[in-house]
Amino acid sequence: MAKHYDVIVVGAGNGGLVAAATTARAGLSTLLLERHNLPGGSASTFRRGRFEFEPSLHELCSVGNEENPSQIYTLFKDLGCEIDWQYEFKTFRAIMFGEDGFDVSMRAGVDAFCEDMERAVPGSAESVRAFFDLVRKNEEALAYVAAMKGNPNKLKMVLKHADFMRCASYSVEAIEEALGMPQRAREIMNTYWCYLGVPTDELNAMHYLSMVGSYVEDGAAMPKKRSHELSLALEKALLSAGGELWYNSEVVRFLYDEKGGCAGVVLSDGTELYAKEVISNVIPHNVYAMSPKECVPERELRLANSRELGITFVTVYLGLDCSKEELGVEDYTVFKMNCANPREQYDRRKEVGMYYVCNCLNVVIEDASPEGTCMLFFTIPMFGEDMPKDLKPEEYKKWKNEIARQYIEDYEKCMGLDIRSHIEEISVATPVTFAHYLGTPGGEIYGYQNSGWDSVIMRTQSQMKDFTVPHLTYCGGHSVRGDGYSSAYITGQDAALRVIKRLKGGIA
Ligand SMILES: Cc1cc2nc3c(=O)[nH]c(=O)nc-3n(C[C@H](O)[C@H](O)[C@H](O)COP(=O)(O)OP(=O)(O)OC[C@H]3O[C@@H](n4cnc5c(N)ncnc54)[C@H](O)[C@@H]3O)c2cc1C
Repeated sequence: MAKHYDVIVVGAGNGGLVAAATTARAGLSTLLLERHNLPGGSASTFRRGRFEFEPSLHELCSVGNEENPSQIYTLFKDLGCEIDWQYEFKTFRAIMFGEDGFDVSMRAGVDAFCEDMERAVPGSAESVRAFFDLVRKNEEALAYVAAMKGNPNKLKMVLKHADFMRCASYSVEAIEEALGMPQRAREIMNTYWCYLGVPTDELNAMHYLSMVGSYVEDGAAMPKKRSHELSLALEKALLSAGGELWYNSEVVRFLYDEKGGCAGVVLSDGTELYAKEVISNVIPHNVYAMSPKECVPERELRLANSRELGITFVTVYLGLDCSKEELGVEDYTVFKMNCANPREQYDRRKEVGMYYVCNCLNVVIEDASPEGTCMLFFTIPMFGEDMPKDLKPEEYKKWKNEIARQYIEDYEKCMGLDIRSHIEEISVATPVTFAHYLGTPGGEIYGYQNSGWDSVIMRTQSQMKDFTVPHLTYCGGHSVRGDGYSSAYITGQDAALRVIKRLKGGIA
């Protein structure tokens, strides 16, 4: 006999784990299905020799702490999860080589950040402070829009959130120019653009303001035992509330009732499972491919066909046989740019090399690796079109190792380090790896490109019109808010709250 649940959640990534833990804790019978044998999707861990690597997380935003909790701190606490949060209060060091280059280190905290910017670019502090004022106004407006479920009162938006309304559809560059921010300060301010993969003349200002604001206001947070600690804590929250989590359970088909509502799923071994509500942590593209054509509303198909798939990465994980002091590394996060202007960097990436990030976890978590060793983690943004089209399987290893060599050498030159003679373990992941582990079409890490008509503002406004299949709700990096851990957790919570409301009464 087929099993029936109140809620089935497909995919135990960040969004799916929070969604399932939330519905289970609300007393709904909940089944979470994951095709791999461990939770978390990107939020995981892996070992090579004596090193345990963080596969994805550089920094989590919107965490805060016990005295001053932000949204993510509260979310975990409310789910009963105890996390050993570690913090880094230097946002980044950004380096650009060449005659017109720079090397700046920026501390977290709005005052400290403005001070550092003024030191790097005299005369910039006022415009940078105005940027952070907009961050605050942006947060207030977005909180109101979210509370109104994407359907805010227009008059209230104009009267109470006028600055947000004036800025909402502009690019980051347009807003910085309007604030009179000097060019060099803009280049430093725009350092985080590569996390989103959209150059700042195209990137929605409000989205970027939120991201920069949360990193600068709270600093970066990370769990002591890699992101796997977060995923295991959420798994525990689900199981201790009576929920079920089935690993090695790949969903291959979505089932629909006679009214076109989602009714359940089929696993790869043919098992049919039914639920009153289904939450998908799986990207809509894949859900449509697993659904009968006639059950996908035309508007959703058109939307899927018009969307661009987003950024992916090449990552290099290094376990070194020397301490960070012996190596000569002091910074947790270093961004190395080849062009200071994001548009130029994006357009000229094949000629000058891509902008990248290098993290040393031991700077924040001293004992992240055995005594006398340290770890480095390179992240190099990549766009779908950059993957070689005719790469043969037998050439794949050579191709990825060559990328690793190129960026390690570049970093050695940039920082004056000798990394290569200390490599004890090395692992290189590419879009192929991420496609394999996350199941996204080209290894995209947040699903869709978050820009232009498909920006977070537009998604928030039209979410109720865009996704109309009854009993099917989406969450995760591909969802309304786009990028990152925090967004995936928050959309998981939002999806669960809507489902709880639908099942326990009231209108969602
Ligand atoms: C290298 C790297 C660095 C990053 N750095 C940061 C950072 O510093 N800060 C930050 O905030 N974010 C960062 N991110 C992004 C962040 O990891 C993602 O935005 C977030 O984890 C997305 O979560 P998700 O809920 O969409 O789930 P995903 O991680 O996409 O997981 C989806 C889950 O669904 C499962 N699944 C897929 N298809 C099926 C199926 N058919 N049946 C069953 N299960 C299925 C998958 O196995 C997977 O477990 C980084 C990502 C990467 C890859």
